[in-house]
Amino acid sequence: MNTASTIKRIALFGSTGSIGTQALEVIANNPDKFSVEVLTCNSNDDLLIQQAKKFNPNVVVITDETKYTKVKDALASTDIKVFAGEKALEDVASMDVYDFMLAAIVGYAGLKPTLNAIKAGKAIGLANKETLVVAGEIVMQAAYEKRVPIIPIDSEHSAIFQCLVGEVRNPIEKVILTASGGPFLGRKTNYLVNVKRDHALQHPNWTMGAKISIDSATLMNKGLEMIEAKWLFNLRAEQIEVLVHPQSVIHSMVQFEDGSIKAQLGLPDMKLPIQYALAFPKRIANNFPRADFKKLRNLTFEEPDIKTFRNLGLAMEALDKGGNLPCVLNAANEIAVYAFLRNRIGFLDMTDVIESTMQKVSFLQKPSLDDYLDSDAEARNYAADLIKL
Ligand code: NDP
Ligand code: MG
Repeated sequence: MNTASTIKRIALFGSTGSIGTQALEVIANNPDKFSVEVLTCNSNDDLLIQQAKKFNPNVVVITDETKYTKVKDALASTDIKVFAGEKALEDVASMDVYDFMLAAIVGYAGLKPTLNAIKAGKAIGLANKETLVVAGEIVMQAAYEKRVPIIPIDSEHSAIFQCLVGEVRNPIEKVILTASGGPFLGRKTNYLVNVKRDHALQHPNWTMGAKISIDSATLMNKGLEMIEAKWLFNLRAEQIEVLVHPQSVIHSMVQFEDGSIKAQLGLPDMKLPIQYALAFPKRIANNFPRADFKKLRNLTFEEPDIKTFRNLGLAMEALDKGGNLPCVLNAANEIAVYAFLRNRIGFLDMTDVIESTMQKVSFLQKPSLDDYLDSDAEARNYAADLIKL
């Protein structure tokens, strides 16, 4: 029998996004296991209000301060505390009202709240890969010091995590990160040069937020995931291999020192890794569609085309060199994707912006947190100037 004390109290940072809304579906299906205590968004006030009325959290935060009054008024008849602004987002991450943060904000904005949550001893379910790309060493060190688990939600990393359960003493030879290849798999530069926003947003296997959809189309997403894997699983660059697998059924694999390979498989549905992270170490029964091997006759594999999809090559360079270079890569990419989504630059221009920014911002081998914040700001300014944003 479940009692109130066995209910995990969840803070859902980025509740209005693709991961956030799917996490709420998982939570709604398991009211005896989870309660929602914190909901946050950037500016989607209507959805935040609707979610707050349904899940009755302790606190909601909207980063866009101009929306504060509307949210406050809409929830006036409830006990829900309403805060606004970036600082509030960071402060709420340290509050006592929850146990487990589901980090589902997109981009660099997720870093500080997640770091604060770790410092406050909260377990983390991490969707926000940019947090580890920007400051992986600092984030993982803080988690180690606080004995806080970081459970990946990114499907590839959830797969690797699942393959590693029961293997604590067995060193990894390498991990094989699978990649769908995105909507432009097999296309060459002469095609990509004309690609437009709406086409790039159409991912063949997953429905996701706009930023990660563009990152998947350029293969930057896989580059960010290589860096994410390095920090999560303490790997060297040469232990991380990318393999294009267009069906997205094998979510990733681990090869051990005896040559044996473990893989985690399933249909492409983010609710699965979200639920796994929320419930870990348990698995919860559900009625999500099942993979049927009789229908999965054609699982194919190929090497990624780094010559055409140069963003992946740039991310590999950042992974190799380390220091502040992944942080600079990430900042320039966020600006470039923002500009592409607003039709300000072309698909291939994104790579040029990132490459120039990586060459321009001074390299730091062992950055402090402040150095990362400075490198991020410098890279953003430089990239925005290039684009004339
Ligand atoms: P979405 O764009 O769909 O949602 C992002 C969420 O973050 C929204 O709640 C948004 O609020 C909030 N947000 C955006 N900017 C800010 C900001 N500056 N300050 C505070 N909150 C902000 O993204 P996804 O759900 O697709 O992705 C979230 C993270 O998960 C990303 O890091 C992504 O890489 C990762 N991920 C996503 C997958 C997916 O399937 N979607 C798969 C694997 C990883 P608002 O709605 O108000 O804008
Ligand atoms: Mg992924």
